[in-house]
Amino acid sequence: MTKELKSHFEGDNLFESDNGNCRLQTNIFVTPSEVIEYLFCPRFIYFMNVLKIEQHEHKRKLVNKGRDIHALKMVHNKDYLRKKIGAIDKKIDVYLTSKKLKLVGRIDEVLFLENNEAAPLDYKFAFWEDKIYKTLRMQQTLYALLIEENFDKKVEKAFLVYVRSKNHLEEIRISENMKKEAIVIVNEIFDILNQNYFPKATKNKNKCLDCTYRNLCAV
Ligand code: SF4
Repeated sequence: MTKELKSHFEGDNLFESDNGNCRLQTNIFVTPSEVIEYLFCPRFIYFMNVLKIEQHEHKRKLVNKGRDIHALKMVHNKDYLRKKIGAIDKKIDVYLTSKKLKLVGRIDEVLFLENNEAAPLDYKFAFWEDKIYKTLRMQQTLYALLIEENFDKKVEKAFLVYVRSKNHLEEIRISENMKKEAIVIVNEIFDILNQNYFPKATKNKNKCLDCTYRNLCAV
């Protein structure tokens, strides 16, 4: 699996506020991959993006993290899958930015559907396990928000193709509540980045057992 686009810092800009004072505005964008890191443990964002300590190894398993270039290449009958979904148009390998949310992401495909909605389609080099993890739902919800802002189309579902299960096609419903939750999480990440505060540890202490940051974390 490849790590999705890393967050990028576009530099700091001085701007004049209403009272005439100059304030520092930092333009930072986060990625769906970073949101997944945050969901695994909020402290990952602190260690990675505030202290800039990279994870040398991904000992823990984040399911279906990031874009899966390998899966993308493995699927030969993509037109059949798009037709099955009801897509009438598509954009492939799309890099999208949300200035509103300060979010960037790269989506395997954006599909435009018969009902005038749009949907992300993501290829996973994985077996279908009869369940979809919250991290993956959140990744697709962030893609939905990016598509809505960039194409001015409603997004209420996302599609996943599990290449190792004979291209099993799975539909995820993207509700308004999921979108609200995604926005809250993005804002929580910005709170950590902007205020440099040390967030709460994950409640699931099993995650700490083989965590790269365990020695720094004092849990
Ligand atoms: S040791 Fe536990 S609390 Fe600390 S960063 Fe790792 S997973 Fe999070």
